[in-house]
Amino acid sequence: MLVQALLKTKATEGVVTVPSSTTVSEVAKILAEKRIGTVVISDDGGETAMGILSERDIVRELAASGSGCLFGTAKAYMTTNLVTCTSQSSVKEIMSLMTEGRFRHMPVVEEGKLIGIVTLGDVVKAQLMEVEMEKDALAGMIMGH
Ligand code: AMP
Repeated sequence: MLVQALLKTKATEGVVTVPSSTTVSEVAKILAEKRIGTVVISDDGGETAMGILSERDIVRELAASGSGCLFGTAKAYMTTNLVTCTSQSSVKEIMSLMTEGRFRHMPVVEEGKLIGIVTLGDVVKAQLMEVEMEKDALAGMIMGH
């Protein structure tokens, strides 16, 4: 399965982005309200991904430097070394990149523009769907349908 197909199965379209000047405390509020684990940082309204700030980054910084980081900006704590995929990447490929890199979010970028985001949860769901389809096809073959 390709990322293109996976994006179509997602209940919510689009990516939650915030400007790099957003405070960490505002980001935490957005993550909680929207029940998501990460925001993509973009200063041009979501076209270009500058970085990603995840709940893990916030927890790590809280443990390292205390609650003062909540007043800092997303720019100061985001990960800028982004691993991205395209709509033509295979789900298997991104699953291994996420496992090796130990992260659960992968922005989908095409010609420099952010077009979506895939989570580890989406990937697992897609894999389960594929296994189910294979199982049905094999059962159909055995029963002669
Ligand atoms: P996550 O598991 O996605 O919440 O993120 C774990 C760590 O990886 C955090 O430091 C994130 O900033 C970072 N991270 C998340 N997604 C990516 C990505 N696609 N490329 C690079 N780093 C990422």
